[in-house]
Amino acid sequence: MVARVTLEIALRKEFDYHVPGELEAQVQVGSRVKVPFGTRQVMGCVTAILSDSPQTNLRPITKVVGQQSLITPRVLELARWIADYYCCPVETALKSVLPEAVRREDEGWRERLFVRAHPPTGELPKLSKRQAEVWNVIEEWRDISLQELLRLTGSTAETVRRLEDKGLVTIAPQVSERDPYAHERFLPSTALELNAEQSRALAAITAAMAPGAKAGTFLLHGVTGSGKTEVYLQALSRCLELGRGAIVLVPEISLTPQTVERFKSRFCAGPLRTLVAVLHSHLSAGERHDEWHKIRQGRARIVIGARSAIFAPVEPLGLIIVDEEHEHSYKQEEAPRYHARDVAVLRGQREGAVVVLGSATPSMESYFNAKQGKYTLLELPTRVDDQKMPLVRVVDLRAEAQKDKGMAIFSPRLRDAIQSRLEKREQVILFLNRRGYSTSLQCPLCGYVAGCPNCSIALTFHRARKRLCCHICGYEATAPERCPDPKCRHPAIRYAGIGTQRVEETLAKLFPHARIQRMDSDVLQRKEDYRRILGDFRAGKIDILVGTQMIAKGLHFPNVTLVGIIHADMGLHVPDFRAGERTFQLLTQVAGRAGRGDVEGEVVVQSFTPFHPAIQYARRHDFVGFYEQEIEFRAQLQYPPHTRVALLTLKGRNEDKVKFTVEHLRRELERRLAGWKNLILAGPGPAPLLRAETFYRYQIMLRTRQMPRLSRELNQLQQEFALPDDLTLTIDVDPANLA
Ligand code: ADP
Ligand code: ZN
Repeated sequence: MVARVTLEIALRKEFDYHVPGELEAQVQVGSRVKVPFGTRQVMGCVTAILSDSPQTNLRPITKVVGQQSLITPRVLELARWIADYYCCPVETALKSVLPEAVRREDEGWRERLFVRAHPPTGELPKLSKRQAEVWNVIEEWRDISLQELLRLTGSTAETVRRLEDKGLVTIAPQVSERDPYAHERFLPSTALELNAEQSRALAAITAAMAPGAKAGTFLLHGVTGSGKTEVYLQALSRCLELGRGAIVLVPEISLTPQTVERFKSRFCAGPLRTLVAVLHSHLSAGERHDEWHKIRQGRARIVIGARSAIFAPVEPLGLIIVDEEHEHSYKQEEAPRYHARDVAVLRGQREGAVVVLGSATPSMESYFNAKQGKYTLLELPTRVDDQKMPLVRVVDLRAEAQKDKGMAIFSPRLRDAIQSRLEKREQVILFLNRRGYSTSLQCPLCGYVAGCPNCSIALTFHRARKRLCCHICGYEATAPERCPDPKCRHPAIRYAGIGTQRVEETLAKLFPHARIQRMDSDVLQRKEDYRRILGDFRAGKIDILVGTQMIAKGLHFPNVTLVGIIHADMGLHVPDFRAGERTFQLLTQVAGRAGRGDVEGEVVVQSFTPFHPAIQYARRHDFVGFYEQEIEFRAQLQYPPHTRVALLTLKGRNEDKVKFTVEHLRRELERRLAGWKNLILAGPGPAPLLRAETFYRYQIMLRTRQMPRLSRELNQLQQEFALPDDLTLTIDVDPANLA
């Protein structure tokens, strides 16, 4: 027997190994194995079992790691597809498919000493006071870890050993599962009665899950607060009834305790504690290992997690839900550069699972697919209980800036609106997608701007630490007192542009009695911070929450009746064809935080380009209107969803060399792709962010309707194109970010 193996050292080749007789029973497709490679022993994964090999002199597999093969043939197929489509080696794709904690040989189950009670049938032997106390606790728990017992009783192991001597308990090692939610209680929740639109959506999803039915993909377009999550929950119940498992993807940023609680409360009452597994980046390696194996063993049937949870080993898989499907965080920004939503659709097709993509602001791609009949569109156009959508007012900052020569952070309209909320004891959320104090430090005399020495970007001033920081590479410097240009040395250097710190500071001056809290990645140093701040806000201990996109998503606070967007244009004028789409999505999401309770909400949007379609359609809550004008613009320029994009970026420290090589790359592409119809080859040109982390970056953009075919060509090119040592080429298929 011969096993074909990919090696972890990420070579683009697979190697054949002989399977020794004694290992034959254990080696399957998906097994992790240790094999000799040169003089070393390396880890790999079996991708195929063959009876014979074209190669001779095969070396034997050294050993099989782990008892259960970790990768199912189906997931392995998925990894292969990812490698082909997103142009990377299979082994790189496998690294995403299988969490590091599971791959590593040494990470296993944790064993701990457990104390088990053996209550006597007759009379209790005579115990000291201390022993009796400890015994009472053990008797109540029946089975408890020694560590936990000592913590609870404040006694010593010696006391417990005495009880063992008397035959009342046994102390033995036992596997102890690391449950990231062990210390939380979930109050059971029951299914709500659905409104007519929710019922219709659920019926369609359920019908597609029925045995023998054809599973298509659904796009669930429901405004914020329309009750999408309740539809998900009930669809999951049906899925479990059919004996199948499910995966729920949510963006990392909205994987809040609040979200997890909603799912756990519905499905994790009592003995079903392990039914829902949670996978996200804050788990320890051990927790991740245990959650993953609970899924693999079939004890956890519902997986809720961020991007990489799409690879969870759920079998058989009945349902995949991708919430906030338009979110760019579903795209991985390093190899393998996969898009979890697209992988979800593919995985659903292959495994006969129903896929539900949900959003209040679907991506252009998904809505286009729905219009084309590829996906079935389900709509929830109203909020639950017919709550009104918030009233959105747009304030023209150009007019404001004329009136008020200073930097108008708060227009009178927004100021008044905040004041009235404070008086009524209602809460306010203020949004600005830029952390720090000012966006740049500028000399008013000579125009000098403090820039990053490594990146082509201005440094952001952080007031509390009095430092200038680069948001790309993390470079930091002390803020100069005077202009550093030796010819100028002007003493009054000025802060241009605003960040959340400056909003917070100005706010404190305007409303000295308000309780203000900022929330951005500078404030959140530890993982509890996020929880604590949201808890305080919920409890009414904070009047105004100021934050970045971190507060834009999925939060539900009934007492928030005003949302202010300080600068709606922030992301509008970047060189990316999705700038309008992103702004529309962000404004709609942020606006959706207002008026989730009984009082109608209000949103004040401040903008320098108040008539931009992204702002005007968001103001009217008109997704379809936005879609229709945007799809027209995309058609004219042949951008996605009419085509697909592959972005080639060449990086190096020597700019001339990068430029020279990228020209050569362009000629090579022309040669290889000669005769292709409907192919647009743009570039080379400097990347929007020309220099990042000391590397110059030049790009070529390809657009086509035949991406799988183009991927094959690019894979070939990547292997054959002779690249100078100090340059790197990255290929990003369906890039989310063009910078
Ligand atoms: P979405 O996910 O679309 O933003 P949610 O599912 O969070 O909306 O629903 C918003 C609120 O409405 C939640 O508090 C939820 O419990 C409640 N809700 C959802 N469906 C119903 C229903 N059919 N009846 C009553 N309340 C509902
Ligand atoms: Zn930098």
